[in-house]
Amino acid sequence: MADKEILEEASEEVVSKNFIEQIIDKDLEEGVYETVHTRFPPEPNGYLHIGHAKSILLNYGLAEKYNGLFNMRFDDTNPTKEKVEFVNSQLEDIKWLGAKWDDRLFYASDYFPQMYEAAIKLIKKGKAYVSDLSADEIREYRGTFDEPGKKDPYSDRSIEENLTLFNEMKEGKYEDGSKVLRARIDMASPNMNMRDPVIYRVAHMTHHRTGDTWCIYPMYDFAHPIEDAIEGITHSICTLEFEDHRPLYNWVVTELEYPHPPKQIEFAKLYLKNVVTGKRYIKKLVEDGIADGWDDPRLVSISALRRRGYTPESIKMFCKLAGVSKSQAVADMAMLEYCIREDLKLKRPRMMAVLDPIKLVIDNYEEGKTEMLSVANNLENEALGEREVPFSRELYIEREDFMEEPPKKYFRLFPGNEVRLMNAYFVKCTSFEKDENGNITVVHCTYDPETKSGSGFTGRKVKGTIHWVNAPTAKKVEVRLFENIIDEEKGVYNEEDGSINVNPDSKKIVTAFVEPALAEAKAYESFQFVRNGFYCVDYKDSKEGAPVFNRIVSLKSSFVLPKA
Ligand code: ATP
Ligand code: MG
Repeated sequence: MADKEILEEASEEVVSKNFIEQIIDKDLEEGVYETVHTRFPPEPNGYLHIGHAKSILLNYGLAEKYNGLFNMRFDDTNPTKEKVEFVNSQLEDIKWLGAKWDDRLFYASDYFPQMYEAAIKLIKKGKAYVSDLSADEIREYRGTFDEPGKKDPYSDRSIEENLTLFNEMKEGKYEDGSKVLRARIDMASPNMNMRDPVIYRVAHMTHHRTGDTWCIYPMYDFAHPIEDAIEGITHSICTLEFEDHRPLYNWVVTELEYPHPPKQIEFAKLYLKNVVTGKRYIKKLVEDGIADGWDDPRLVSISALRRRGYTPESIKMFCKLAGVSKSQAVADMAMLEYCIREDLKLKRPRMMAVLDPIKLVIDNYEEGKTEMLSVANNLENEALGEREVPFSRELYIEREDFMEEPPKKYFRLFPGNEVRLMNAYFVKCTSFEKDENGNITVVHCTYDPETKSGSGFTGRKVKGTIHWVNAPTAKKVEVRLFENIIDEEKGVYNEEDGSINVNPDSKKIVTAFVEPALAEAKAYESFQFVRNGFYCVDYKDSKEGAPVFNRIVSLKSSFVLPKA
């Protein structure tokens, strides 16, 4: 079976019926819901990363699969860390991944009036009260896992008094932290989240959308179920850390008497081994100047992956392979790399680039002559056509493709040995030159005109094929060779102080010689550099006629696709 088929089969196997789809099937069968309606609700407090991609593709994918609806919603109820910059970057990333929301773009902050009304409703039902306890006191009164909480001394206020005080909170009569609204649930609940959680707080802050309209803001656990219910979400998918919050989610939608309340379902977050994923930690790498911005190609924010040359298809393939489950697992970066190789293999042209050049002179080739060779852009995909590549007496080859004293099984160039110059002729090494330090500077050879590629020559065989670039027309370009920004030997976090173990050699910059055609490459275009890897034109640092290339991934793979 071809690799591609194995991959498709494996991914089908993984996604055929994940546990969320099983829940949805049952809900539809039993008539709990008539349709499927999902959402992706990021907080606009940073750039999205590969973990969010998984959540986006899961939520969007389910809506698509069940012919339902998908909402894009900003969960912007906490003005402290939220910014318009992040709203815009997140929208760009989600669009790039292929999730479509059409006119279904919502902001939780638009629901502040309904949330306020919901709080009033709870107060009127005797299910919420205003408390003057400080944040520290509330923590103290909450108790511990072994001890029940203590009754809030303000919990006996009358409904009338609570309504007055809550209104005054809204009118700006109280300072930050001086009063909160708490849900009246159960101070003895074994679930700490149910011990009269705070649902509204006073915060005199300017919100990026509502400005100074509000000086009270709802807490996440109160706001989120209301947002879902208002939008008619059926399956509210979130990650495992919210499992213990589910009873509170259900309490909110039940007490507020929504007719078709949404259902919260938790799945395990995506983690990558030796990779920094959390927004907070990526932010730290950026702020500490270890990474050059949120889209540094060594990061796994979506904007960084895009800049590096990853495609939406490769990320989709990766998320499918990683699967959806309830139990925490750690995926391997090698799997993501496998996916981008698979995606680009047939799609992109294979070009010649020499990253660590030495001169090769063909002594018996006519001086001043340039031949144009016809070269297939991708031997495995004829549709990509052909291009003309110049060839002459002086070329560049990779330094590692010549050895003065080769070890056994070295089939590339060494004195007396013959190899094929890819897409061109057989050449035989005759001599070489060194500088005063003993470094090889020039390799000399002779070519055999009978052996031209495509001429059908069968006279003799050679064991090695090396690539090259025509020296007089070669373009000098900057190439960035990336490694993991984390020191893989040590792991992400330093055990002693929790700091991040940084790999000091994660970005190597070289000057390469490439085929002239590559000089015209445009931002985000990617190529295979034969015998080496996949490279993408950096959108930020490239200039017209002077592309800068980011190595997406080398051709060598350590990843083995699990058998379905
Ligand atoms: P981070 O810890 O990176 O800040 P977050 O969960 O705080 O992530 P939100 O903006 O609140 O970020 O998340 C939006 C959605 O993305 C949530 O439903 C969240 O559960 C999901 N999500 C976040 N990180 C991951 C991850 N690593 N894997 C899968 N889903 C994730
Ligand atoms: Mg968060």
